[in-house]
Amino acid sequence: MKDETKLCHNGRPHDGLRMVNPPVERGSTVMFPDYDSFRARNKPKYYGRHGTDTHTALKDAIASLEGAAGVTLTPSGLSAVNLAILSFAKPGTDILITDSTYDPVRSFADQYLAKRGVSVRYYDPLIGSGIKELIRPETALIHTESPGSLTFELQDIPAIVEAAGEIPVSIDNTWGAGHYLKPLALGAAISIQSATKYLGGHSDVFMGTIASRDEKTAHRIFKTAQLLGNATSPDDAYQVLRGMRTLHTRLAEHEAQGIALAQWLEERPEVARVLHPALESHPQRALWKRDFTGASGLFSVVLKSADETYVRTFIDSLHLYGLGYSWGGFESLCLPAWPAFSRSATVWGEGEGQLLRFHAGLEAIEDLTQDLDQAFERANREAKG
Ligand SMILES: *Cc1c(COP(=O)(O)O)cnc(C)c1O
Repeated sequence: MKDETKLCHNGRPHDGLRMVNPPVERGSTVMFPDYDSFRARNKPKYYGRHGTDTHTALKDAIASLEGAAGVTLTPSGLSAVNLAILSFAKPGTDILITDSTYDPVRSFADQYLAKRGVSVRYYDPLIGSGIKELIRPETALIHTESPGSLTFELQDIPAIVEAAGEIPVSIDNTWGAGHYLKPLALGAAISIQSATKYLGGHSDVFMGTIASRDEKTAHRIFKTAQLLGNATSPDDAYQVLRGMRTLHTRLAEHEAQGIALAQWLEERPEVARVLHPALESHPQRALWKRDFTGASGLFSVVLKSADETYVRTFIDSLHLYGLGYSWGGFESLCLPAWPAFSRSATVWGEGEGQLLRFHAGLEAIEDLTQDLDQAFERANREAKG
């Protein structure tokens, strides 16, 4: 079945007299009918923290989307990445993390893992099969993110998987949303998403998902989540499942809007370069064409100017683009960011202008470009001032 069919049908009740959607099953205490069922091994559910039928419905939908043997839900995307890493990190082990990783993951690795006897090393996102030279006997996990969600380098996942051999490779797959990239089919052991972004899709819920290719990895991650006492709300699980029903349709629109905006911006004299994997100008576009079936609505531009007054005037003149963290909702966003400060293995954008990250929302493209146009004109006028 194609993804759009799966997204409509999976994680729903299928038998008897039923509603279209699963109910929101709230609860802490699971009631056992008798002593023997209470004592039975491998109970499908035994405490609300481990999940209710609403969570199971969402996990089923994500497992079918990502092609996973099992899925663990976590309270946020950040906790999903960190939990996946924690499932493999022990004192004395070594974790390799892409230099383009989501910055709070770097904070976790440096401020938490590294202080507990775990070696944390960062590598160039463009390393590909060269990762082989960094692998040590104690390397326990290679964490990737493709594309990087500020700087949009694409990683050669099959090459990294091959070089990794027995070492599991995890990927932050939030940009591909499990729809435009299938990392488990490319050999990754673990595909992670911030469901806060496209799966939820409406900027009103926090959730992380960890999809594992095999049962053993899935069990290991679920067990770590339980040891740490992770739980997610069934109402949030319902929200994410609801968002997933329209994922295919929304993403197609975000893709078209994102490409149109990126191309429009690429023509502007104020813009030095556009970082969008689907554009001809992207240095790893061939990897995008090979591994992805589409592009989501998130990309960056580097302005020619690095002048803060110019950038402030531009951003404060925008009416339709929100200024704030996160992305993946229906609304457009424009966020200034400074990725050079979150690098240790590579140098990023030395001497360049300001990076602005855009999320292309579902507004009319004419309104979005017109808004950018007037904001550039105003910033240019005041700069000449
Ligand atoms: C937002 C984001 C996260 C963290 O997700 P939260 O749900 O906000 O905790 C992780 N990775 C990427 C690429 C993200 O964009």
